[in-house]
Amino acid sequence: MKKIGILTSGGDAPGMNAAIRAAVRCGIDRGMEVYGIQRGYEGLLDGDIKLMEWHSVGDILQRGGTILRTARSERFMEDKWVEHAAKMLNTFGIEGLIVVGGDGSFRGGIELSKKGVPVMGVPGTIDNDLAYTDYTIGFDTAVNTILGLITNIRDTSSSHQRTTIIEVMGRRCGDLALYSGLGGGADVILVPEVESDINEVCVRVLQGQSSGKAHSLIVKAEGFKVDTAELAKILEEMTGREARAVVPGYIQRGGGPSQADRTLATLTAAKAVELLYDDSDSKAIGVSNGKIIAMDLEESLNVKAEFKRDLYDIANLLGKGK
Ligand code: ATP
Repeated sequence: MKKIGILTSGGDAPGMNAAIRAAVRCGIDRGMEVYGIQRGYEGLLDGDIKLMEWHSVGDILQRGGTILRTARSERFMEDKWVEHAAKMLNTFGIEGLIVVGGDGSFRGGIELSKKGVPVMGVPGTIDNDLAYTDYTIGFDTAVNTILGLITNIRDTSSSHQRTTIIEVMGRRCGDLALYSGLGGGADVILVPEVESDINEVCVRVLQGQSSGKAHSLIVKAEGFKVDTAELAKILEEMTGREARAVVPGYIQRGGGPSQADRTLATLTAAKAVELLYDDSDSKAIGVSNGKIIAMDLEESLNVKAEFKRDLYDIANLLGKGK
């Protein structure tokens, strides 16, 4: 394969730029032409496609977001537009595509590969919700961003002897809440994967108070069944201590990528280029037990997510009052 394209799609994630840089430079190094496609599948449909140079990806490794921009494309959900996208790639002579994004973007990639375009999925999402890979690009950075917020919240929350509920991203996957809750020493972690009883949450906060804790911290995934503001109200009523909800929102997506995300992005994108160079069929690239892996793109979405119950249990044990 001589001409390949790369796009970033869905929610942006720190490290996407590192993936673009690696794909462009590894491709050029192999004598390939690498085309940057703007605004995900939207830009592909519009033919917003440009040849990338070695220097066009200079000074981006350390930057958050994505220089190619990203988008959610309603049009691309329709078969006739997928067909149009395949034709567009053909017009540019692009033989294979690297898609950096989450499960939705991979689904789009699967549709495109059914039209005869080999697609390499590089896992770019802060949610860590692609079960075939241990980590996704952006997850580590987002956890560290949340930990920074927790440190700040702890200061003010102790001074005022408050309970703080911090709502982090993750509709179906509680990994952001789990890892930041564990690392931030939360009293309680609430995730969509575990049925937590709100009365028990209140009891735990009360136990913390009676054991002398100046504040209580709850890290809650947005996908947990109870609304965050509602939970703050319940906690305030049940514990008699002021409770505040903090929703950092898109702050979690920003910032320069951590070393771990730069490395993961670089290695997975380099692997994607290697596979396209070797004329492989569509694959999802990821990491498993410290090794870069590639598996069938469609199969990758069938891998069942396993919640890390051991981490959850130890975090819960350490967070309770005595
Ligand atoms: P994140 O979860 O981090 O936001 P994502 O890649 O899962 O990332 P989505 O918005 O779910 O984000 O998907 C990105 C785009 O992928 C969609 O806007 C759409 O264009 C395309 N896509 C998603 N599902 C399909 C599908 N079944 N068929 C075709 N295209 C799809």
